[in-house]
Amino acid sequence: MTVTEPARAGPPPTVETVRGPVPVTELGRVFMHEHVFVLNEEIRQNYAADWDEEEQVGAAADKLSALARRGVATIADPTVVGIGRNIPRIQRVAARTGINIIVATGLYIYNDLPLYFRYRGPDSGIDGHDPMTDLFAADITEGIAGTGVKAAFLKCCIEEEGLTPGVERAMRAVARAHVITGAPVMVHTHPASQSGLEAMRVLGEEGADLSRVLMAHSGDTDDLDYLTRLADAGCLLGMDRFGLDILFPFERRVAAVAALAARGYADRMVVSHDASCHIDWFPAGLIGVFAPNWHLGHLLDEVLPALRERSVSEQQIEEMLVANPRRYFSPAGAGPAT
Ligand SMILES: [Zn+2]
Repeated sequence: MTVTEPARAGPPPTVETVRGPVPVTELGRVFMHEHVFVLNEEIRQNYAADWDEEEQVGAAADKLSALARRGVATIADPTVVGIGRNIPRIQRVAARTGINIIVATGLYIYNDLPLYFRYRGPDSGIDGHDPMTDLFAADITEGIAGTGVKAAFLKCCIEEEGLTPGVERAMRAVARAHVITGAPVMVHTHPASQSGLEAMRVLGEEGADLSRVLMAHSGDTDDLDYLTRLADAGCLLGMDRFGLDILFPFERRVAAVAALAARGYADRMVVSHDASCHIDWFPAGLIGVFAPNWHLGHLLDEVLPALRERSVSEQQIEEMLVANPRRYFSPAGAGPAT
């Protein structure tokens, strides 16, 4: 006999943030891909004489507080090792702003592994086991570097360089940590080379749940065949570089989201900027010249109005900003958290 049980009513699941667990129902509007700081830490320590820690922490908190005042309650920050992850610094920012900051674990590389991991590899380990898997999993289950802050998602990259041996090892370690912990995955992809498909294959081989995989930077293309292949496999599409019009123009970014929404894919997209409160990749003032719209206010000021003009409904916008992030950060099989 089959007994159909009523949906289990209990407290909503929680997601770890820098200030501790938050019910997923309280995440509100989420920008799913923004960075507080992107830094070359070793260069900063040696050469950035103009770095003022106190000033930078304060400026970042001010930018995030301004975003919170405009109704965005949460950002997901995929700054992992490779682009300057420093959780104590993020804790100082979080202490000065009400916005929720969700942090990640994983590795940001386009080519080779850091030498630290090169000689601590599956070839040198027992049973071909990769020590990165355990480090990433522990960031999720135990916390990061003694801070008590737990990562809530995993990050890896596959750029134009493709599946290099280093990229593959990092991706498989991320996939295994995902299988062990259940935490969702974000992949930095390069749509021009359709690298999301290769990521999907590798993650699938490792037994990843593709409905818990976000293909970041999918908005850098309007190739709907490519995008719907990822979405039909269950992946979330990160339409997450609004403002980087130099990489792909505003009109085409907006049109791609509108076209996908019209085809029923609003439940497969999230929107964001991939902006940073501070990034050291560019000389001071240059971003304002090459990407003047690449800041945290662009979505609210220009993108959402443009989507509404193209018949994207309020409900679809709320799906992309609220429901999809909530689902992504809910444990698999948790059911709809309302
Ligand atoms: Zn990013």
